[in-house]
Amino acid sequence: MNIGLFGGSFDPIHRGHLTLAQTAVSRYALRQVLFVPANIPPHKQKSPLTPYLHRYTMIALATQDERTFTPSLLEAPEFATTFSTTPATSHAEKTATANYSIDTVRRLKRTLKKSDRLFFLIGIDAFRDIAKWRESRALLAECEFIVASRPGFSLRDVAESLPEGLRPPSSVTRPFHKQPAAGDLVLPGLTLHLLEGVNQSVSATTIRAAAAQGKPLGRWLDPKVADYIKKQNLYRNART
Ligand code: ATP
Repeated sequence: MNIGLFGGSFDPIHRGHLTLAQTAVSRYALRQVLFVPANIPPHKQKSPLTPYLHRYTMIALATQDERTFTPSLLEAPEFATTFSTTPATSHAEKTATANYSIDTVRRLKRTLKKSDRLFFLIGIDAFRDIAKWRESRALLAECEFIVASRPGFSLRDVAESLPEGLRPPSSVTRPFHKQPAAGDLVLPGLTLHLLEGVNQSVSATTIRAAAAQGKPLGRWLDPKVADYIKKQNLYRNART
């Protein structure tokens, strides 16, 4: 069975996330997509996130009507501290329950069958930082990646984002700069599927800023999520 794992801060979950997952489901015959809100994404610890419980609830609301979409507690605070396989190094890491995708993927794979095929869903802007992620080479080897492409990104951007050791030499990638990020990129140690057709120019940052100004959010969000934000007074003093 093909399974997708889609992680993020989801602060809040929006149409861009849902369209990415829907497109991946239809293109790669995914039977399930796990939406995994991060407790404290390591790259975002500088700005405080909306409490986990609110972000998880908004995912539960937004995914209610999609049979294949499942809200996942894989990075819920208690899981992250109990099952982390990588030792914390800095003081911040020891005191905050940071979670890393490599831990999440390994934890999930322990529950899957041998015949299951795991795909890691990610947007191209997040993928650009992949080389900085903890054990990025191991992560790329653990599962296939579905990278949602965007107009303006080339195959060279994707290839040059790879961690050293997996990155093809620049003499090879240079001619890629005119090729849109599309199709499959199969190299020793990784398989990337570049997903076109998502094209939703929305970000959680825009939504938080709009909510702070009391603007309507309906065009970016599931109505149930917009209603939840309103009732819970979320993002009134939003960071952007
Ligand atoms: P923020 O504005 O707070 O940075 P975000 O909208 O980028 O948030 P995240 O929860 O950080 O949302 O993103 C989770 C994943 O979804 C990432 O892999 C990101 O690249 C992807 N993503 C976010 N917005 C879009 C979009 N509009 N289209 C396609 N992918 C997206």
